[in-house]
Amino acid sequence: MSKIVVVGAGYAGIFLCTNLSSKLKDIAEIILIDRNDYHQLMQEIHLVASGFRTSEQLKIPISSLIYGKKIKFIQSNVKKILPDKKTIVLDSEEIEYDELIICLGSSTKYFNIPGADKYTLPLRSIYDASIIYNHISEIIKEEVKNNIVIVGAGATGISLGSALAEMINLSKNKDNIKVNIIEATSTILYGWDLKIKNKVEDILKKKGIRIFHNSLVERVDENILFLKDGLEIKSSLIIWTAGVRGFNIDIEPTIEKTNDGRIIVDEYCKTNQYENIYSIGDIAAMKNSKGALYPPLAQIAVRQARYLADYISEYYINKVVPKEKFDYEIKAQILSVGNNEYVGLLNNYVVSGDIAKMIDEFTKNTYMKSLKTGGKNISVNLYENDFFSQVLAGMTFAGFTFFKSLEKLSK
Ligand SMILES: Cc1cc2nc3c(=O)[nH]c(=O)nc-3n(C[C@H](O)[C@H](O)[C@H](O)COP(=O)(O)OP(=O)(O)OC[C@H]3O[C@@H](n4cnc5c(N)ncnc54)[C@H](O)[C@@H]3O)c2cc1C
Repeated sequence: MSKIVVVGAGYAGIFLCTNLSSKLKDIAEIILIDRNDYHQLMQEIHLVASGFRTSEQLKIPISSLIYGKKIKFIQSNVKKILPDKKTIVLDSEEIEYDELIICLGSSTKYFNIPGADKYTLPLRSIYDASIIYNHISEIIKEEVKNNIVIVGAGATGISLGSALAEMINLSKNKDNIKVNIIEATSTILYGWDLKIKNKVEDILKKKGIRIFHNSLVERVDENILFLKDGLEIKSSLIIWTAGVRGFNIDIEPTIEKTNDGRIIVDEYCKTNQYENIYSIGDIAAMKNSKGALYPPLAQIAVRQARYLADYISEYYINKVVPKEKFDYEIKAQILSVGNNEYVGLLNNYVVSGDIAKMIDEFTKNTYMKSLKTGGKNISVNLYENDFFSQVLAGMTFAGFTFFKSLEKLSK
């Protein structure tokens, strides 16, 4: 029986495996590998860093997601991939494959800035979030003036800054601690709609966050950040959210990657060198129909996973190589700006308050449902692009909000 091996059980890998297993049944063996035995709900890890969620709330045991499905899970670290031998080297063993899908996500990019990797903390996992939480919990106990510094005003930096400010504002020491966000460009949320940027900047100011625009970091030392314009900021907690690159996995012989370490794939999620190696999610560099790279987002990862599950199963079941390319346009983006506060853009309209909260809840709910059913329920239409699916998605959302409102009324 053919062996399909998926490395990484994040948004891309877990969604791909559950969808593949419901389509392929006994046609191929599906093996999923991850170093952790849990799937991480990354969208909320800044809330772990700020103590509004516990680590356990965001860890979903992989066993519960693949229960009853024909997926073999191996918990191990992937050390190396040997494409010519169709083999993956794990810490625990070596595995051969017929098809390999690489979904190892991303890691922090430090732009070769001296001291950045040594003296700052990253935020790319629940583990990283717990380390930040331990630090901030100590800081809020001390009755001395302190600065928290976040480098990077992208979505991660903004969500983290808002949540930390909220946590600090609830503490006795709120007047002693300031949250600062350092941004190299002239604007926060680079690449987002201007309406959202303005709205979010207002929210940050109300929370007492100081934003430094056009501020390039020159180097970092222990507890001190040096900016190119000569400014020095002392801080006992510096967090680096300024850049993302593809997860650095050893592949021998190497396959084509971007300068940011993302694996270059075509519109079928396939690598240029190997017909049987695919890559999806943050680690994959795929261009959209306008020639721009898809951004590293969970919503892209799950859509690529759903596309690839269809592609591979079509090939395995009907022995036809599908012609349809992956194509997806982002229609909604929601940003967390505090423990229970969201701002977003839906079909070009700014949404906030209860509506934004509801969209966020709906998205998470849909994701979990689709994951558990391997794509077999109606809300999976959210992951499609066509008009019919969009209407269905709208109706499902209306139903969801209706039942949520009833739930609230009955409390
Ligand atoms: C704070 C924060 C907030 C975010 N909010 C949003 C949001 O609101 N909306 C959105 O669309 N996106 C959001 N994102 C981005 C989103 O989390 C990523 O795009 C998404 O996780 C990518 O999915 P993935 O499967 O490619 O990678 P991941 O989800 O990171 O999964 C990678 C998997 O690979 C495993 N792995 C890595 N290396 C190895 C190894 N060597 N051996 C074995 N296993 C390994 C990891 O354990 C992990 O399970 C956010 C990210 C962060 C950090």
